[in-house]
Amino acid sequence: MPRIQQLPTNVITKIAAGEVIERPASVVKELLENSLDAGSTRIDIDIEAGGSELIRIVDNGHGIHPDDLELAFSNHATSKLMTADDLFAVRTMGFRGEALASIAGVAQVTLQSRPTDEQVGAELVSNGGDLSGVRVWNGASGTRIEVRHLFFNTPVRRKFMRTASTEMGHICEIFTRIALAKPGIHLTLKHNGKNVYEVSSTMDLLERIGLFFGKEVRDQLYAIDAQQGPAHLFGYIADPGCDRGNAKTQYLFLNGRWIRDRSLGHALQEGYRGLLMTGRYPIAFLFLEVPPDQVDVNVHPTKSEVRFRDAGALYTFFLATVRNRLNAENLVSRLQAPAQPSANGGYFTPRPADATPSLFSKPGFPTFTKNPVSSVVNSPLSVASDIAPSGQLLDSNVATEEETTDEPVATDDGPRATDARPELPEVLNAIQMHNTYLVVETADGMLVIDQHALHERILFEQIKARVREGSLDVQQMLIPEPVELSAEQAALLLEHRKDLDALGLSIEDFGGNTVIVTRYPALLDGRSPAEILKRVVDHLMSKERVPTREQLLSDLMSLMACHAAVRSGDPLTPEEIAALVEMRHLANDAHHCPHGRPTALLFTRQELDRQFRRI
Ligand code: ADP
Ligand code: MG
Repeated sequence: MPRIQQLPTNVITKIAAGEVIERPASVVKELLENSLDAGSTRIDIDIEAGGSELIRIVDNGHGIHPDDLELAFSNHATSKLMTADDLFAVRTMGFRGEALASIAGVAQVTLQSRPTDEQVGAELVSNGGDLSGVRVWNGASGTRIEVRHLFFNTPVRRKFMRTASTEMGHICEIFTRIALAKPGIHLTLKHNGKNVYEVSSTMDLLERIGLFFGKEVRDQLYAIDAQQGPAHLFGYIADPGCDRGNAKTQYLFLNGRWIRDRSLGHALQEGYRGLLMTGRYPIAFLFLEVPPDQVDVNVHPTKSEVRFRDAGALYTFFLATVRNRLNAENLVSRLQAPAQPSANGGYFTPRPADATPSLFSKPGFPTFTKNPVSSVVNSPLSVASDIAPSGQLLDSNVATEEETTDEPVATDDGPRATDARPELPEVLNAIQMHNTYLVVETADGMLVIDQHALHERILFEQIKARVREGSLDVQQMLIPEPVELSAEQAALLLEHRKDLDALGLSIEDFGGNTVIVTRYPALLDGRSPAEILKRVVDHLMSKERVPTREQLLSDLMSLMACHAAVRSGDPLTPEEIAALVEMRHLANDAHHCPHGRPTALLFTRQELDRQFRRI
């Protein structure tokens, strides 16, 4: 029988560090917060090798008294909290008194500090928790802390660290959050001696947003400012046209601290209801101020989640504020305006030559070969549930997405999935409906095909074949186009450079957070390289885990196929309809559908007869 024993302090510290210090960015976060709590007006950060070699933070705050240096490195030692009641009146970033102890336990740390009103300061070194004696230190007033060889004594953790550029991306994200939350403070960030960001104290929030997210975002923001009872909400929300494929560009700060809140995130999304396609997210920079007794910040080790006393009221407040602001821009009516009536009756009528680009004019449009494979039609029962998660990459128009989502799920009486069919039925007739669906009469029923989904499928197969043969057409840029990104995005893209290259999308590091596009797949002609790149980056960032190379290739191929395919809303010529219908077997191939969404529904003659009570 194992006996119980008290754990030694160094083990306790490592366990605690496991919660607070997950990666180099966590160290940067904790140290920056300490510098802020010390009233610093300038903070300089130096990183080496993504933080695995060195994280150095120098501030001009009030410093630490020499007699307190050892305490600073011990667990549950803090100058920010005295009694349990103080927990409900927290006005500082830190209060748990465990960050420095945790960091000191898993790295080699030198802490040097001189209080503003002292002539000399002191320094203390921790080697994985073993402390040197306190020595005199004669540096500038403020605090200087160097963290070297993070996780040197916890090899498992060290192995979990990703490439320097990825870790640096996370650090940049932390830096961005602090810089947005604390205008008025001068902040600099260097990586391997090179300047990454310099944010001067005079730059206001809008300028900071411009610095981190580019002019495109900055120029499409609407300011909001609203008060409800003691709650004050202010900041910016972006025009729905400037949306993203994930929620990462939604920043919420509570009393000056970046937080994540599902409920308020949902309220924001609801505020944009009807203005965004499924799977698209608004950009927002929101600051919420509530009295400290209205919120419990002590529910999460890194304090990134909180509990509000009246979460329901805040939700309504959020939603109403966002909605009203968007209403004021008349965005809602703009979107709900009736769609342009189609010029084309839909039934094999030729359309003017200047209408939407022809299916055939798209570079790389497949040459059709008849390929009578057996097929399975996706079950209509999967329609509703398939759309939400996979809709992310799909670009069909809003009305269509909404209609499809809102449509009642087919019941037992609805169209049925059929079993594998031995041969493709002969097509008797095909028409386009709502510029979106192809309705095909077959000998034994009726097939309704989603034109975008089918074309996308066809292109996907073709791209796959071309990538395999290495014969994908690429477009060399005469003048390489610079694309400005966030540091995290740039790092992520550069990390996947080889895979992108295999798809004909070549990028190079241009310094700063700018990446230049030198080549892109000809199939994507007509789309701006910036747009393509942002799609790719959104896609990469939406993944929880690092995709394998195969997954990534497949994802990117479907992204390309999606981009190049005809959209819902594009009128098609009879030839185009015929060409698509010719390839309809692909619509039925549930297994390889790039997004897992059904591309066709089959209504058998028998089913129709039964519905109309003929049999
Ligand atoms: P907490 O921030 O939760 O109090 P930490 O472990 O992060 O706990 O820090 C312990 C204490 O060390 C702080 O309460 C503060 O008094 C002191 N301290 C840490 N960093 C600094 C700094 N940069 N400037 C001044 N004091 C600091
Ligand atoms: Mg702290």
